[in-house]
Amino acid sequence: MRTINDLSLENKKALVRVDFNVPLDGDFNVTDTTRIEAAKPTIIKILEDGGSAILMSHLGRPKAKEAEFSLKHIVEKVQEVIGVQVKFVEDCVGAAAEEAAANLQPGEVLLLENLRYYKEETKGDKGFAEQLSKLGDVYINDAFGTAHRAHASTAIVAEFFEEKAAGYVIEAEIINAKKVLETGVSPITAIMGGSKISDKILIVEKLLNIADNIIIGGGMSYTFIKALGGKIGMSICEDDKQDLALDLLKRAKENNVNIILPLDTVIADDFSNDANIQTVVKGEIPDGWEGLDIGPKTRELFSETIANSKTVIWNGPMGVAEMENFAHGTVAIAHAVKDATSKGAFSLIGGGDSAAAINNLGFGNDVSYVSTGGGALLEYMEGKVLPGIAAIS
Ligand code: AMP
Repeated sequence: MRTINDLSLENKKALVRVDFNVPLDGDFNVTDTTRIEAAKPTIIKILEDGGSAILMSHLGRPKAKEAEFSLKHIVEKVQEVIGVQVKFVEDCVGAAAEEAAANLQPGEVLLLENLRYYKEETKGDKGFAEQLSKLGDVYINDAFGTAHRAHASTAIVAEFFEEKAAGYVIEAEIINAKKVLETGVSPITAIMGGSKISDKILIVEKLLNIADNIIIGGGMSYTFIKALGGKIGMSICEDDKQDLALDLLKRAKENNVNIILPLDTVIADDFSNDANIQTVVKGEIPDGWEGLDIGPKTRELFSETIANSKTVIWNGPMGVAEMENFAHGTVAIAHAVKDATSKGAFSLIGGGDSAAAINNLGFGNDVSYVSTGGGALLEYMEGKVLPGIAAIS
């Protein structure tokens, strides 16, 4: 894979796909700048090499051209984070965008309007990609979070460029994933959480070949516990995946991989932060109650396993961490991963809710790498070819 370091950027207009799909509050303030900060080194490299940067991104899921999804809301924040003035054009293709791009001078930055104002973007429309390609001389993809999608700006546009490469975000994502997949030092512990086993089957299967321990928490653990004969009350469960859960346990045993399930569960009589709460032994959840977090004994067991690991990958919360009363398990894991890292372990946080937990606790710099792409990282680790990476390779 070519990276930005392999490109000659002097006097070139670099069309860069970034991931500026940032969260906004009700007043359109950016509430988390992680993704903008992540793109900064690539943007600065282009400018320092004497080029100009034309940034394109999506924001949210607009149905038409609703103003609430305009990238104009983030211009000031991008400017503040990268420390360079940012011009904005109210379209991403067509005459206005082409004129703004043509007028751009070396050292300048232009941000285009939301790519998803055009349905052609997610359809991977070739004509739309060709229109985008007219704006730049070279193409750089640095949006890892959408690299698993064959959209116009993430993959198809690359066909129209001779000179194309990955930015520093994509480069770092691949390097860090390989630190688990290819050069991970044992004991390797994978912590899997989140709601469903069905979303994580392929990654768990892959982990059966590389991990020493697979910790299973969160909603997906109840499918395993029920399959093993436990009572799970009205906890989230994929009944049709019980055989699969048993099969994964069997294959883990054959491969000498420890699958570690919760010992106890924090249960509630309603899916609400204000519900009545109890802690019970796993598999003993009464009717009318549901498991919403791992219990204290489980927090201890999981933390101990993590503390004894040299490589840790974490994807998915241990409970309904959006609700304060059910976030303790996820918070405990974040602490354990931080502590293991301080003792020399390599830790990779796999995007989404786990990344949010780490960042909300201010642990972003206390773990080895926080991925910017949940789904994309999982697909990469499963061994799938990501269209956004194949297109620049
Ligand atoms: P995922 O997108 O599959 O990684 O799952 C993340 C979601 O799983 C979060 O929104 C959590 O609230 C949810 N989740 C985690 N544990 C549970 C649980 N015990 N019951 C219901 N939802 C859960």
